[in-house]
Amino acid sequence: MVHNYTEEAVRRALPDVLQEYRLAHPDTCDCQRCREDILALSLNQLPPHYVASNEGTIFTKVSFDQIGGKAQVIAAITNAIKTVSAHPRH
Ligand SMILES: [Zn+2]
Repeated sequence: MVHNYTEEAVRRALPDVLQEYRLAHPDTCDCQRCREDILALSLNQLPPHYVASNEGTIFTKVSFDQIGGKAQVIAAITNAIKTVSAHPRH
């Protein structure tokens, strides 16, 4: 089975980044549709990092380093949140 570490990293980081963003911008929507748009937009900004594995991916901090660092992931998610909240499709 092929996994995309980038997707795993974004899926894990997204709820925290969105929650943090909503503290400063309470009007930001977090419905399922907006979350999926944010996920897709974030992934379009980040390089994929595929790994083949027979078992479930063991995800550690190392994975963030493999895809350019956690800061880059958070920046991509934040950009995506801004774009989606400016033009929500829900
Ligand atoms: Zn929404």
